[in-house]
Amino acid sequence: MSTLRHGLALVQDPTRNKGTAFTEAERDALGLRGLLPARVARIEEQVERVVGQLARKPNAIEKYIYLTALQDRNETLFYRVVVDRLEELMPILYTPTVGQACQEYGHIFRRPRGLYVTKRDQGRVADVLRNWPHRDVRVIVVTDGERILGLGDLGANGMGIPVGKLALYAACAGIHPAWCLPIMLDVGTENEELLRDPLYLGIQERRLRGEAYDALVDELVAGVREQFPDAILQLEDFGNANAFRLLERYKKEVRTFDDDIQGTASVALAGLYSALRLTGGRLRDQRVLFFGAGEAGIGIGELVATALVEEGLSEGEARARLWFFDSKGLVVRSRTDLSPHKRPFAHEYALVTEFALAVKALRPTAVIGVAGVGRAFTREVLESMSRHNERPIVFALSNPTSKAECTAEEAYTWSGGRAVFASGSPFDPVVFEGKRFVPGQGNNAYIFPGVGLGVIASRARLVTDEMFFAAAKALAAEAGEDDLAVGRVYPPLSSVRQVSLAIACAVAEIAYQRGIAVGQRPADLRAHVAGLMYEPTYG
Ligand code: NAD
Repeated sequence: MSTLRHGLALVQDPTRNKGTAFTEAERDALGLRGLLPARVARIEEQVERVVGQLARKPNAIEKYIYLTALQDRNETLFYRVVVDRLEELMPILYTPTVGQACQEYGHIFRRPRGLYVTKRDQGRVADVLRNWPHRDVRVIVVTDGERILGLGDLGANGMGIPVGKLALYAACAGIHPAWCLPIMLDVGTENEELLRDPLYLGIQERRLRGEAYDALVDELVAGVREQFPDAILQLEDFGNANAFRLLERYKKEVRTFDDDIQGTASVALAGLYSALRLTGGRLRDQRVLFFGAGEAGIGIGELVATALVEEGLSEGEARARLWFFDSKGLVVRSRTDLSPHKRPFAHEYALVTEFALAVKALRPTAVIGVAGVGRAFTREVLESMSRHNERPIVFALSNPTSKAECTAEEAYTWSGGRAVFASGSPFDPVVFEGKRFVPGQGNNAYIFPGVGLGVIASRARLVTDEMFFAAAKALAAEAGEDDLAVGRVYPPLSSVRQVSLAIACAVAEIAYQRGIAVGQRPADLRAHVAGLMYEPTYG
């Protein structure tokens, strides 16, 4: 009787379940005899069944729901499927489908995953953290749901993002799933639809702001330090004002970073480095015009400025090459409405309020779209870029696909096949005048898993900007000549585990060089890092 219960518990525990792959011997030893159909399957056969079932799902959101249920049922099988089909499944597990999943989270919800810390937990946050069953947590991704992808305030529905990002940590860099903890900081929402939705699962009140909000975040950070001293705290999809503020406040004290700011910056800088191999210029010869001056835009701007200073420019000279256009127009000195993070990029120039006119006037060599509004790189913009550049660099990074500044097809067509294009959401290859182009996806998943792995491997006390700079260089180095030949400025996503390993080594090197690592540098760092990587196989 008790053995039978034990056997059932095993099948119902996703971290230990092997389903039909339990061997004959295990079935006998673990009280599983009779609880499973007779045929003992190999994991390859289970994968085949999953892939067949996935193919029968009529759309992306149904595939997402199916995969989530698989993750809840058999974690090893879930990761086996994902690791082997990353390129195909990334758009389901992450942007764009995860965005839709968050929008509908209250309706498609089946089972909780991760921890919910709410504004009602003030004073007892540590108790909530103590309820997490795993003590050895190495990566936490936390959001307060205020700015989910390009979709705005989704409140507690934003939990899909930390869950999805941590699945990518495990799949892309082999961070063991048991080391990963998603946290939703539920402080309410301003989303009117959710405030009225009877199936909404979060706190159905307006957002906590000001001192009370800061006190709750402080309590969470202190609780994490105490309960999970080895964890990285990744800030994710916080609203604009909080994101910059929280990062500044904690990054010199705790092992934290903001992927929307620093991860995005790193992947975009890597894309620029690779693009320069195609255009033939140097970074210092570029003039970059950003469409959007939020977390992504300013984050990229700051890191590119750092890279330019590394090349020998003064900070002023570096910033002079970087221009921003936001919802009010060109970011210029005469404006009095600029938030602190935009001011260092405000130039002495006339205010231009139309993007196409700014492109004509400034003649940038690269435009980077990160405003989240969509369709801003019009035919006029692309033609103008192509008039003054032999190979214009066009990065349409806004997500989801509907918010992209232009499609891959538009970029290649309107530039006469000359644009070096990358996007935030995936686009299919394009054939233009007989030549096949494969657009690169500036996916943060190239960066944050590897950075996390490097920090874990070196037990670095902090996550520094220099690490993201090193990660950008390591990623750019992984784009091969065959990638560039088809216009792709990143390696294929299918090689992301190799990319993560390279990034992790570069990041760990920085930690050892700067004296923020714990312990001695292993003689064979690469082997040490590779040895930490989780492989989804049945033990
Ligand atoms: P954010 O809210 O911090 O910033 C948005 C910026 O766009 C603000 O500066 C705002 O003033 C500006 N803006 C809004 N409307 C505008 C308009 N009509 N014209 C010009 N500017 C306008 O958001 P964020 O975190 O910076 O993200 C922006 C976009 O970048 C999102 O779509 C997001 O999905 C995308 N993103 C992509 C990647 C990637 O591809 N790797 C990474 C991060 C973010």
